Amino acid sequence: MNKPLDLRGKRFGRLVALEPTNRRSGTYVVWRCQCDCGNITYAAVGNLKRGNVTSCGCRRREIVRTQVWPAGHAACSRNYLDGTCVTTLLQAPGARNTSGTVGVKWHKCKKKWIADIQFKGKRYYLGSSENKETAIALRKEAEQRIHGDFLSLYYSEHPDIRRRQPPD
Ligand SMILES: [Zn+2]
Repeated sequence: MNKPLDLRGKRFGRLVALEPTNRRSGTYVVWRCQCDCGNITYAAVGNLKRGNVTSCGCRRREIVRTQVWPAGHAACSRNYLDGTCVTTLLQAPGARNTSGTVGVKWHKCKKKWIADIQFKGKRYYLGSSENKETAIALRKEAEQRIHGDFLSLYYSEHPDIRRRQPPD
């Protein structure tokens, strides 16, 4: 077996190797690394040397924040998570909303109530009904499924934000 590489103090992107651990990833030794952002992270020698791992994950988060999130929302970027604007998600129905429920709109041509939901930057069509209550129920059910998980993830990442309840 080869003599283990001594990477102590060596820099890989934002990471500085601190010490080897007893953990292995395949044949590679896993090193404890210090990231420039202050986080401690663990990376296998192979990934470090190939440049696969260059931060604790903060670099990727920054790229997402600056490039993936809509530019117009840069100012409220902390309200964004995976492309879903939490502010939008929690807001009361807008003035132009025809049903009084976010995500339920009257479709003039179809003469039906349309329910949809926006999640991770995509709009999902949930269904339609001539009955407004049915469309609202579709939306509420989807909200609970999608936003319930989403909001708990959001609050766990932003513990400083007081937990607010979505409007009924
Ligand atoms: Zn970091």
